[in-house]
Amino acid sequence: MKVLKFGGTSVADAPSIKLVKDIVADTVTDKTVVVVSAFGGVTDLLLHAALLASVQNADYKDVLKDIEVRHLNAVKELIPITAQSQVLSRVKSDINTLETLLEGAYLIKEITPRLSDKIVSYGELLSAYIISEYFLQEGMDAAYKDSRELIKTNEDAGKASVLFESTNVNCTTYFSEVENRIIVLPGFIASSENGNSTTLGRGGSDYTAAIVAAAIDAEVLEKWTDVSGMFTANPKLVKQARAISNISYEEAMELSHFGAKVLYPPSIQPVLAKGISIHIKNTSAPDDAGTLITKNKNEKGKTVRGITHVANMALLSLEGPGMVGVPGISKRFFEVLSRADISVVFITQASSEHSICVGISADDVDIAVEVVNTSFQYEIERGKIKSAIAERGLSIIALVGDNMKHHQGLSGKMFSTLGRNNVNIRAIAQGASERNISAVIIESDVKKALNALHEEFFEENIKQLNLFVMGVGNVGAKFLEQVREQRKFLKENLKLNLRVIGISNSRTMVFDEQGIPLKDWESRLAEGKKANKIGFFERVQQLNYRNSIFVDNTDSDAVASTYNSYLANSISVVTCNKVACSSAYENYKELKDLARTYNAPFLFETNVGAGLPIIDTLKHLIASGDKILKIQAVLSGSLNFVFNHFDDSTTFHDVVERAMAEGYTEPDPKIDLSGIDVMRKILILARESGNRLEISDIENKPFLPQETLDTHNNEDFFASLKKHEADFQKLYADAQKADSKLKYVAQYEDGKASVGLQQIPKGHDFYNLEGSDNIVLFYTKRYPNQPMIIKGAGAGADVTASGIFADIIRIGNF
Ligand code: ADP
Ligand code: ASP
Ligand code: MG
Repeated sequence: MKVLKFGGTSVADAPSIKLVKDIVADTVTDKTVVVVSAFGGVTDLLLHAALLASVQNADYKDVLKDIEVRHLNAVKELIPITAQSQVLSRVKSDINTLETLLEGAYLIKEITPRLSDKIVSYGELLSAYIISEYFLQEGMDAAYKDSRELIKTNEDAGKASVLFESTNVNCTTYFSEVENRIIVLPGFIASSENGNSTTLGRGGSDYTAAIVAAAIDAEVLEKWTDVSGMFTANPKLVKQARAISNISYEEAMELSHFGAKVLYPPSIQPVLAKGISIHIKNTSAPDDAGTLITKNKNEKGKTVRGITHVANMALLSLEGPGMVGVPGISKRFFEVLSRADISVVFITQASSEHSICVGISADDVDIAVEVVNTSFQYEIERGKIKSAIAERGLSIIALVGDNMKHHQGLSGKMFSTLGRNNVNIRAIAQGASERNISAVIIESDVKKALNALHEEFFEENIKQLNLFVMGVGNVGAKFLEQVREQRKFLKENLKLNLRVIGISNSRTMVFDEQGIPLKDWESRLAEGKKANKIGFFERVQQLNYRNSIFVDNTDSDAVASTYNSYLANSISVVTCNKVACSSAYENYKELKDLARTYNAPFLFETNVGAGLPIIDTLKHLIASGDKILKIQAVLSGSLNFVFNHFDDSTTFHDVVERAMAEGYTEPDPKIDLSGIDVMRKILILARESGNRLEISDIENKPFLPQETLDTHNNEDFFASLKKHEADFQKLYADAQKADSKLKYVAQYEDGKASVGLQQIPKGHDFYNLEGSDNIVLFYTKRYPNQPMIIKGAGAGADVTASGIFADIIRIGNF
């Protein structure tokens, strides 16, 4: 004999019930017991209708109407017209009874637990009846049996206790006598010795199936549901979760106790005692292997089997000096909770005995505070103990596995993963069985915590990086293109999975939690909402993804001023925007400190030398104990381009115009030619070398005439260049005479920095610098004479985008 249980989603409507029929018809065994839930959502509707009626809200009639329509529709779709009338009239008669019960509640303005049980029982009664009639019409040898005649309980309405002795006898007698091959039973409902309808608690159809399976010594209990087994985490919250093929009873129980709703915890008990396996299967994917739950302990080596959470929790704590060393306080505390029928899900007590803290359902917390305060009134009035404190809006997350006790470091790994993702832990407990490690966290962090832990423990080190990109001009667009091209490679080779969740330019912004498809980000962005920098941050914060990275490809002050908000929320920042790092030292320092405090990298490699690894190298030198003595560099790709193309056969004006046309200068070329851009870069290098420097401390000997520097727009600027052509030609001629080339050099030594045009003699490292290349010479304690040299293309959208990309990979490997 086999027992097959179909949950609410498996019997939600006619099409799903047809799948159920196929599964039952394909089952090979002598006798099949089919336990069904109410049609998906119907129990909730019935409870809702009862509640409305009990407060004399006539809307309960609409709810009842919905329930009626759903059942009548199912009958019409499943049963041939010729046989419909008898089934329809039975359904209508049940609905009439329900209506009478609800009217009763409406009139007396009350719903007793017993009446509530009577009302909800119709969910399962109707579904089991309709399904059995459908089976018969399909030519199956099926019978309907009311489980209230088999399963006996005490009178505790709402969640009655099963009287196993009579129940087992009823089951063995009935199933040994019944001749039909398929018996359809309503789950969840039972009856008391006095004949009152009772229920086994929410999710109780699993229990019905287990009770019957144990009573008749079934070969297996198959639980058919809407997922392909028990998953490593709730698949609705963790996309990467996967089905666990084999699991022990104890582990399954622990997982379901901690929220893996796929199994109702008490349901394991009866089959566990008999050693009957439970097979969890997916009704809409019957070929999937599912999860087999058996008494076998889990195979060697596997430590963490699943990650779960229980929502809607609260912490209740009692503390005060009067608790230290006083025996019996905990006993009284737990007793008073138990007397109020409040179950304690979680316990922690600090070793100082100064406080006790327990996790309870948020629904119980008001009563809990009241009963605890009443019980400790004497101590509270005398200031020995403080009034009980309740904290709501929490969840428990738990790692579960039989073998966890044999392994050190799992909890360390769990808490460092949570810490890295800025998940605040409110309390911690490790079950005595050491089959779980659990922590209480804030409800809004649950999804992030589950995903981060899942990634850490199950995903073979594939790490997901969630990108939020602001600015899609030259650099930003190139960057998105590179991400698109590299995604597959990164996933396969570096085990990094990049997802762009948000994109914004100055006009619009768009978010997609599944990741924005990068082949059409432009159209998605165009259809986005009106852009707003603060709104963008708030959305990133609200999405609360692990490994979130904010990428700034703009040159905007306003964007730079939002970095602190990101970092303070443990969101990394990668930027090619120089504003933040070259602003006031205090601001730069604040950002660096935030990054350290909140464990969120703040990377800006592209601020100096585009894609060249200049800042990264500097950091490595310093971290390994080296000391920077001097930096000499050509850091302006634009100025290098200009002076490499300028000679007496052309004009300075024309060369600058060309550099601008070819995209080598800032939109305002004066920023480059005045040296301001280079000042910012050497400032950043000086700061990264450990010096507290302001931009005003940097010496700048401009080569542009004052009048050119004073212009206010590009037109005047270019006119002024033309006017002063003779000055520029003289600079060139003087350099020629000295057998030198003109280079715009930045220098830093002994805490002082300067920038300016210099004549570079033949043989110098800078002499042959081509095109728009950059070069940096680091003279350090370890490289005192022959400097460490970094040289290469230092400007252009392509290399800048690749520098941003490199920073993101650095974070991925962090
Ligand atoms: P049924 O109606 O068939 O009894 P339930 O709704 O009670 O099914 O349970 C199935 C649901 O349990 C799934 O849809 C899933 O959202 C949820 N669930 C939570 N945790 C897990 C987990 N670890 N593995 C599988 N499902 C889980
Ligand atoms: N229908 C009941 C409920 O929704 C029992 C079950 O489906 O297991 O809780
Ligand atoms: Mg269920």
